Amino acid sequence: MLKHPRSYPLAILRSILVTLAALLSTSLSQNPPASTSPQKPAPPLKVGVLARLGKKPDWEKLDVYQKTITRLEFQQLLQHNYLQDPQAAGKLIQILPDRVRVSKQSNLAEAGYYDLFFRTSDDEKIPAAPKIHRYWKPVTELRPSLQANRDLSDLHIVIDPGHIGGSFAQIEERWYQIGTKTIPVTEGDMTLKVAKILQQNLSNLGARVTLTRQNTTPVTPARTADLLPYAKKWLTRLPGTRKPSAFKLQHTAERLFYLSSEIRQRAALINETLKPDLLVCLHFNAEAWGNPRKPDFVEKNHNHILINGCYSLAEIKEDDSRLEMLLRLLQRTYYAELAIANEVSDSMRRITKLPPYTYTGNNAKSVNPNPYIWSRNLLANRIYLCPVIFLEPYVMNNRQVHARVQAGSYPGTRKMDRTYRVNLYQEYAHSVTAGLLAYFKKHRK
Ligand SMILES: [Zn+2]
Repeated sequence: MLKHPRSYPLAILRSILVTLAALLSTSLSQNPPASTSPQKPAPPLKVGVLARLGKKPDWEKLDVYQKTITRLEFQQLLQHNYLQDPQAAGKLIQILPDRVRVSKQSNLAEAGYYDLFFRTSDDEKIPAAPKIHRYWKPVTELRPSLQANRDLSDLHIVIDPGHIGGSFAQIEERWYQIGTKTIPVTEGDMTLKVAKILQQNLSNLGARVTLTRQNTTPVTPARTADLLPYAKKWLTRLPGTRKPSAFKLQHTAERLFYLSSEIRQRAALINETLKPDLLVCLHFNAEAWGNPRKPDFVEKNHNHILINGCYSLAEIKEDDSRLEMLLRLLQRTYYAELAIANEVSDSMRRITKLPPYTYTGNNAKSVNPNPYIWSRNLLANRIYLCPVIFLEPYVMNNRQVHARVQAGSYPGTRKMDRTYRVNLYQEYAHSVTAGLLAYFKKHRK
């Protein structure tokens, strides 16, 4: 076989080089240098910033919302309602031309970002509008009510009577009593009384109504003692923090029990089992009363309704809260909450005659001209993943409210402060019922 005369020496050279390279590589792999240091273990991944008793978020929960919202709507909802300071989200939530880029772990850039793409005008040409993933039905998706006076049929409403009450009222610090012979004022017992009347009212109008609790037993199985180790971890989570005092540790564990753990357990029940169309959180408001056995009384008495929003930068830095806020935004709970709160505030104003409460700090913001409605981020109105209206009528340490608590659940009307009134609990429940009825009557097809 003839080879090209000039290629022959080149071929030999190439072959020698290949052989040498092969030998070198074999020798390296067979005889590793004796001086190699043992491999260093990878540094532990920095723990993310989470809310109390929060869990590391699963960003894939956003997958079902790809291309379901336009850039304009996303930006408006975020800036108008969800952010306390519209410019505050910075690098944590970056709005780019075609997507929003969300930091997966606020204290670790290497954890990366989640990209949620916006719906564009090209997507609008697809005839079927994107179905928004949510377990609740907005009013526009309800079937028309066919029966007279059953305007709430097909609706599942969950009522959350705020706090626990009973033997837990003192730990919760939602309790005061004058002397030993008067009826104690305990928010958790009072909200439960209202909840039971409201449940009856709304059921009569055709709704399926469930309460998150039927009595004054906590929903969470955890108790203060169980939460002491977590409390210790929480209090020393920042580098350089000193060992907390026994008092501070106990106080933190108590709050973890009656606030965080209790609300998270109710949320699990709501989001995983009940899956309602609407959540009504019942509370009574209070001004600082000092010593609960010698409370300070105030002249003020007022009402306001909270919807979810107004996240501070510190709250947006919590990885779980950031995801929860986005889930609410993408489910468009804001529109339902605002419209329902408008109707309910109107009926409450007419029936309770309470003036609006005004926030003076920056933990809540006004999002429409209604002076009764405030946007604020609370654990309950953030993690109950459906429209939530959070009611705060009556100041418990107002003298007239105290007198009405002492009067109890009397039937009919009684002269209270120069006017005939139904009892406090009925008045509260009826004022909410009237607003919900007005809303569903007006907006249901
Ligand atoms: Zn409360």
